[in-house]
Amino acid sequence: MITWLVLLFSGLTLRAECLLVVDPGHGGRDLGTSTLQIREKDLALSYAKRFLEIWKRLSSKEVRLTRHEDRFISPEKRRELIANFGCQNVISLHFNGSVIRSRWGTEIYFGKETPSEWKERLEEWDYLNILAQFKQHKYHQESARWAMKLQRQLAQVFPERPIRLGRLPLTILQQSQMRGLVIEIGYLSNEQDRLKVLDPQFRDLFLETLAHNIVAQSGKDLPRK
Ligand SMILES: [Zn+2]
Repeated sequence: MITWLVLLFSGLTLRAECLLVVDPGHGGRDLGTSTLQIREKDLALSYAKRFLEIWKRLSSKEVRLTRHEDRFISPEKRRELIANFGCQNVISLHFNGSVIRSRWGTEIYFGKETPSEWKERLEEWDYLNILAQFKQHKYHQESARWAMKLQRQLAQVFPERPIRLGRLPLTILQQSQMRGLVIEIGYLSNEQDRLKVLDPQFRDLFLETLAHNIVAQSGKDLPRK
């Protein structure tokens, strides 16, 4: 769920030994969304672990997970973990829920600055922060390009499936010095979509497409500070 995500990933620094960190959303007492005993936190973890298996067949580049088991990680701790991993890219995996039961499909989010932040900083003449925002803008742009490419690739593999892009002032991505996407893979609140995301065939095809997308862009280094 997006509401939960607005706390993560701020204050990250880039130490790019590792290519990607995969963050299975929620965990422990934080269940995420749930429908009919199917809990977002469990599904996100199973997708993340499966991604790692698929990844290892494709590439020797390092991918790390923020959690390997069902445990609660506070947003602050999660942010710290990701920062300490020092990867170039981060993907946070989630599933959605909505009171509008007909809503289904995949959503890919990338961050943007909030205009109020700019305004505050300009008013304070806070040059260092303004500079940091400029750098961050670059990462948001990179993330946007990444999101669009992934959208195209997923749309080819799943031509019937809505693949929406969203640009939100996610705090999780706001101060990060890395490319970052939040992927809401499907809607647990929609019966067909729920069955779809529980289907191992869909899961593997989705994760293979994601893995190939990351392999294809893994040669491209981020602009350094
Ligand atoms: Zn979530």
